[in-house]
Amino acid sequence: MTIHQSIQHRTDVIFDSLVRLRRDFHRHPELSGEEGRTAAVITNYLKELGLEVYKGIGGHGVVGVLRGDGTGKKIAWRADMDALSMEVNDDQLFSSIHNDIHHFCGHDVHMTIALGIANNLVHHKEDIKGTVFFIFQPSEENYQGAKAMINDGLLDLIDPDEIYGTHISPMPVGLVASKPGFLFADYKKITITFREPAQETGLEAYTKELFVDLQNRKDESSFWDTRNLMDPEIGIGNPKTIFHDYITVRSDFEVIHKDGDIQVTSMVSASSKAIMDSIPIKLRDKINESSYKALLKHIKFAEKGLLYSTQRANIQNDPTLAKNAIRTMSEIYGDDHAIPLYGVIPDGRGDDFAYFQDKIPGVYFLLGGSNFKKGIIAMPHSLGFRVDEGSIKAGVNYFSTLLLEQTNK
Ligand SMILES: [Zn+2]
Ligand SMILES: [Zn+2]
Repeated sequence: MTIHQSIQHRTDVIFDSLVRLRRDFHRHPELSGEEGRTAAVITNYLKELGLEVYKGIGGHGVVGVLRGDGTGKKIAWRADMDALSMEVNDDQLFSSIHNDIHHFCGHDVHMTIALGIANNLVHHKEDIKGTVFFIFQPSEENYQGAKAMINDGLLDLIDPDEIYGTHISPMPVGLVASKPGFLFADYKKITITFREPAQETGLEAYTKELFVDLQNRKDESSFWDTRNLMDPEIGIGNPKTIFHDYITVRSDFEVIHKDGDIQVTSMVSASSKAIMDSIPIKLRDKINESSYKALLKHIKFAEKGLLYSTQRANIQNDPTLAKNAIRTMSEIYGDDHAIPLYGVIPDGRGDDFAYFQDKIPGVYFLLGGSNFKKGIIAMPHSLGFRVDEGSIKAGVNYFSTLLLEQTNK
């Protein structure tokens, strides 16, 4: 039996206990910052496995350390812990004990997978060369937990070379996917400020047109139909995807006249950081060629916004690690299970895993949770959110394999 067959065997052995664990988390969801019971369950589980455990980091954060022989790399796996406030009667047998708090973002599944990986790798401890850190992070939903753990000294306690994490997605169960760079488009507000001319010169209309011209997808394009995201020809899994190299512009501009200035603000999205960073430069170049050149004061990204802003934590995967990770998992589990993505999903999702990626190169995976035949659609934050628990088995297998391989490099 190879080591990876042995990993799959171990997952089969512990699978029923992991399902019970997931249903226990699901029954007892806790909001951001209130994950006390959840942290206690995790702490007990990790201690029973014999890991070194640290708790109370950045609130209810927990870290488990699995040491191999110390000659390999140090790899971190992160799972988020909090649930959502949503008023609904969860109709599952293992429903929440609260009417208004639910694990409708799948973090119960994420924690279970992380504990399953820990269990699996402890069982294969003699094959682990490096060190594996299991980070259980509170308060993901409000983007506070990752920063809180870092500010509380997490990276003095542990010093990972690489970090990985996953999120349940509406893809079919059994699939895992990722890509270099952004998984989701970044959204930012940009404000152009001019000195207001004494007479009407058409400046406001000109500025709105400048923004509109940035958009490189036509209104009638297939780009706008999100069903095309999964299309085999033009969807995000095809190298020829249409969800690539794009800028979109929201046309509900905000215009403010004050102190002799005119400020025009628009919300733009971009499929990569390089494209986003190029937008103010493009705008400035065009204005410099126009008759409004002398009136321009500045072009700025909004520092803090309401819905979307620089406070959004946008995933940015390390290009080399992302490619290697998908290759490693597809070699063991097949390239119909571990798939590279090429397109960037044009919605405003984020995850404060991004704040760990600011400090440590890492990769965030999308893990399939839907089972369309059974009517299970794993769309996070939707009222009908359900997860096929087969995703726990898939996740524990894929990521145990990945972490073991990475620590041995
Ligand atoms: Zn969420
Ligand atoms: Zn989530």
